[in-house]
Parts: sequence; C-alpha cells; structure tokens
Amino acid sequence: MRNHLQQFATATVIVAALIFSGCSFSLLPGSDSVIGGDPRSDPGSEPGASPSPDPGSDPSQPGPGHIVPLTDGFDFPVGDRNGKGWGVTGYGFLEWSNYSGTWHPGEDWNMYGSPMADLGKPVYAVANGIVRFSGFNSTQGNIIMVEHHLPDGSTVWSQYAHLQQRWVAEGEIVGRRQIIGTVGRGPNNTFSPHLHFEIRIKYLPQNGWPRTNGQAWPKSKVLEYYADPTVFINSHRPET
Ligand SMILES: [Zn+2]
Repeated sequence: MRNHLQQFATATVIVAALIFSGCSFSLLPGSDSVIGGDPRSDPGSEPGASPSPDPGSDPSQPGPGHIVPLTDGFDFPVGDRNGKGWGVTGYGFLEWSNYSGTWHPGEDWNMYGSPMADLGKPVYAVANGIVRFSGFNSTQGNIIMVEHHLPDGSTVWSQYAHLQQRWVAEGEIVGRRQIIGTVGRGPNNTFSPHLHFEIRIKYLPQNGWPRTNGQAWPKSKVLEYYADPTVFINSHRPET
C-alpha cells in the first residue's frame, strides 16, 4: 500500500511539474515512421531520385505516440544561434545546381576561413522537434530530418545532410540548439565540408529531392515543398 501511495505521489509531482513548467506540448505520431528500411539500399537515394511524395504517408497526421514540445522559435543550424562566423557560400536556395540538374532546395553553409575549417563543427537543431530520420543515404551521406510543430498548428521539417557524425536517433525529442551532429563531407568524402540544410514546408521522405522521373521540378513546385531557410528562420526568431 505504501508503495502505491508513493507511486501516486510521485506521479502527482511529475504531472504538477509539467503543468507548472509552462511547457507546451503537442501529441504526435509514434516513431515508427513510414521511412523505414535501409536507406543505403533505397534506389531513391540518389540526388536525381523521385521523392514520391505520397500524401498518405505523411507522418505528421495525429496518432498515438510521442509528446513533442512546440517550437518557440528557430535559430540557425551552425555557428552561434545567429549563424555568426558562417555563411551560405555554397549553393544558395533555388540556385541552379549542375551537379544534380535541379534547383538547389536548400542552403550550403560554410564556416568562414579555410575550406576545411568547418569539418567536425557542431550542427544544431534549429528548433524543438522530433527526429524523423537519422541515417545514411548513399548520395548525401549522413542525414538527419527533424519534424517541428509550430504554435500556429503548422508543421515543417528541417533537413541536415553530409554530416560527419549523427548524435540523435529516430524518434528522439530534440530541443532548439541541441547538438545533433557534426559537419562532414558526404559519402566517401565526396564534397568539401559543408552543411546542406533545408526547411521543408510539405512532407517529403528523407531522400526527397526536387525531381521526378529525371525531370527537375519547376521553381513553383519546389516552393510548394521547400522554404528559403534563411528567410524562414529570420521570420521565426525566438523572443529570447
Ligand atoms: Zn546542398
């Protein structure tokens, strides 16, 4: 009986702490996302692959599972919270990429200094959220995708590619400015070190890329799925 009372008291304290902490939460789907399987064997993992956006596979639909903190604003993914010391010196958002034959759907961030300066530097979650994918993609290397729920009810995804290390797993809750990995060079050191970073405003699988059946999406369609990362972050800065 005493044990039961103690358990009840403990649970009460936890619930009270949650209530009084003032945290906002949203109920979210489980970690058993639709993006299962080994991405290395996924034929869609090359840069020209069809992202096959299937509305039925959107994991942001309500379901049993995790409690995820709502976002309280967005910071930059490298450098300090304002991205100080770093810049988009590689491909910018919606710049034509001859490498992939598509409009570049994100930003390539580099640390100012020598070309190798950013190798191994921390990569931060830009906002509170849940890790939807953490794994290896044969073209982009180590990738992390984080799903974010905004107070206005909208959902966006941040995508971090070419990582040297991944420090979080699928289903993990992350907080804004939490280190989730380090800057790398992609598979087999394909690239000079940089962070390929995307903000997606409509669900795509982790290996999504703006091309279907070898045809690059027009800019108008890219903009249905992707936001300009810097513009998005600057319009969603935290109050503190
Ligand atoms: Zn890139």
